[in-house]
Amino acid sequence: MSLLVVGSVAFDAVKTPFGEVDEALGGSATYFSTSASYFTDVAVVAVVGSDFPEKHLVSLKSRGIDIEGIERKEGKTFRWKGEYGYELNEAKTLDTQLNVFESFKPVLPDSYKSRKVVFLANIDPDLQRDVLNQVKEPALVACDTMNFWISGKRDSLVKTLKSVDMLLINDGEARQLANEPNLVKAASKIMSMGPKTLVIKRGEYGALMFTRKEIFAAPAYPLEAVFDPTGAGDSFAGGFMGYLANTMNFEPSNIRKAIIFGSVMASFNVESFSLDRLKSLDYKEIEARFREFKRLTHFEDLG
Ligand code: AMP
Repeated sequence: MSLLVVGSVAFDAVKTPFGEVDEALGGSATYFSTSASYFTDVAVVAVVGSDFPEKHLVSLKSRGIDIEGIERKEGKTFRWKGEYGYELNEAKTLDTQLNVFESFKPVLPDSYKSRKVVFLANIDPDLQRDVLNQVKEPALVACDTMNFWISGKRDSLVKTLKSVDMLLINDGEARQLANEPNLVKAASKIMSMGPKTLVIKRGEYGALMFTRKEIFAAPAYPLEAVFDPTGAGDSFAGGFMGYLANTMNFEPSNIRKAIIFGSVMASFNVESFSLDRLKSLDYKEIEARFREFKRLTHFEDLG
């Protein structure tokens, strides 16, 4: 089954204690679609400027990603600049330039309108709704956001949340959105805003899933070499949504598996800068790491 994503396609300038890059390919839709492409067909809605090299679009296309919905406009591509400290858990945003996204009015290609699974990646919540309103009968809608939009466009974001089934955010964003320091209380406040399922990503501490009935916890894969966490959240979401779109099974037990696939994809992504590792994986490596997750968390019940 097929997946649709709206989000940023960007140039990132990133500094970590282990190195730095400038004008690197990034953006929420870029990481998401590359990660999801290992599981299902994925179509992207975004905008790039006249400075965006064709080779990056060719590289997305070579992974089977549908780029018909990526518009090219006169002007500069979205740019984000961020920095990470030694613990690598949270990015400090140094600069955000929306550029061509500021005046973007997405018009979905006809072939996109019947997509059944929709991911509203991190982007202006007005744009998230513009896209969602053009999809005919989605079976599953999930969304992401970040502090920039929670503080800058809260009312619009709250409107978007009313129409989504799932929200995937990190722990800092959950606390900020709910205005509540305790994550369990924050989760129930957020679920009362619309999403029935909430996935909270906690960097090297793994992920938590909340529904009205249950909580599921997954660890992060213990890696020796973490170079750049940029895109970890989006590649998590790509593996998670890609697996759900592939199976079209939204039962809690399958959502748990999707969380592990999300964790697997995020763990590969952080092993290199930009999309270097993520774009050249073999599905066998993904399966092998999924099984390592199973071993990592398995223990016997009490006798
Ligand atoms: P994450 O998965 O949370 O690490 O997302 C990192 C990506 O988000 C980077 O590649 C950025 O280009 C992109 N990004 C950063 N800020 C924004 C924003 N305000 N809106 C959309 N995308 C953003």
